[in-house]
Amino acid sequence: MKLAFRRQRLKTRQPFATFHGVTSEKETIVVELKYDGLVGLGEVVPSALYKQSLESAESALVRMEAMLDWGPLAVEAVVRRLLTEFDDQRAAVCGVDAALHDWIGKRLSVPVFRLLGLEPPQCRTMFTIGLSEPAAIREKVREALAAGFCALKVKVGTDADEQTLAIIREVFDGPLFLDANEAWSPAVALDRLRRFARFRPTVVEQPVARPDWQALAGLSRLGVALIIADESCQRPADILRLHGYVDGVNIKLDKCGGIREALRMIGLARTLGMQVMLGCFVSSSLAIAPALALASLADYVDLDGHLLLAEDPFEGISCFAGKLELSDRPGLGVRPRTAWPQP
Ligand SMILES: [Mg+2]
Repeated sequence: MKLAFRRQRLKTRQPFATFHGVTSEKETIVVELKYDGLVGLGEVVPSALYKQSLESAESALVRMEAMLDWGPLAVEAVVRRLLTEFDDQRAAVCGVDAALHDWIGKRLSVPVFRLLGLEPPQCRTMFTIGLSEPAAIREKVREALAAGFCALKVKVGTDADEQTLAIIREVFDGPLFLDANEAWSPAVALDRLRRFARFRPTVVEQPVARPDWQALAGLSRLGVALIIADESCQRPADILRLHGYVDGVNIKLDKCGGIREALRMIGLARTLGMQVMLGCFVSSSLAIAPALALASLADYVDLDGHLLLAEDPFEGISCFAGKLELSDRPGLGVRPRTAWPQP
């Protein structure tokens, strides 16, 4: 198999802020896997949260090419080998895992969700509103509701949170998900959850820093909202560690290493009676498509990373009234909007 890759530059429609920082531009990596006359595509979305960069992902990709000699149909064996060798570069593994699935789907002329034995992914995604000033919050909520989204996710973690939540609850009575992105100490989290109870959140995601995961048990027992671990949950073993401390986990393919590992994590979480959210980072549709293929397995779908972009270089996922639909083209179902210049 030949593995080639190139960077793609993405711009968000508006600056997107979380407790970790602001994104208005980012680069991801498009992976092309060529074998037997077909090309499989995948996207690598490295995250500084997991000590990854474009450079660290690219150097992993260069080393991976020599480890693909079993061919794409041995996807499980190949990805296991990559996860063992590149445990800290799971975003890069995810891009190759996606390209392998895309290739197999194209070879067998079936969409990836069919290949996995799953239902067509037709699901409602929540829409995420970043940290913003009150006027901007009002405008973003108005836009999201006008576009038909039925569930909202709001980034929290500042002194303005109560004001933000009050503004949203003035006009929106539906499911409200809060994501603190590790913003609070355990004591502050306890205080915030008590104060936020009046806004009836459905879920509070990652209220405390990763190493404070044991404090999540106390927050879950408060009964204000379901507590879901995101940054604390990267690998399958994290689910075992978190069981009994949280109500559920946010599984992101970019974070865990792709479809194969995500399926293991979803199975594990389900076996342990935990809830499953499927999440994403800001990325093009190419990174959203493999996660969307698994959407029928999740309780909550938060796959709006491509909707935050000014221009998405890939097409194949439609969004009407908050409902995502993946094309039923073979493979991942997405393709570049414009032909790439040939080297
Ligand atoms: Mg999160």
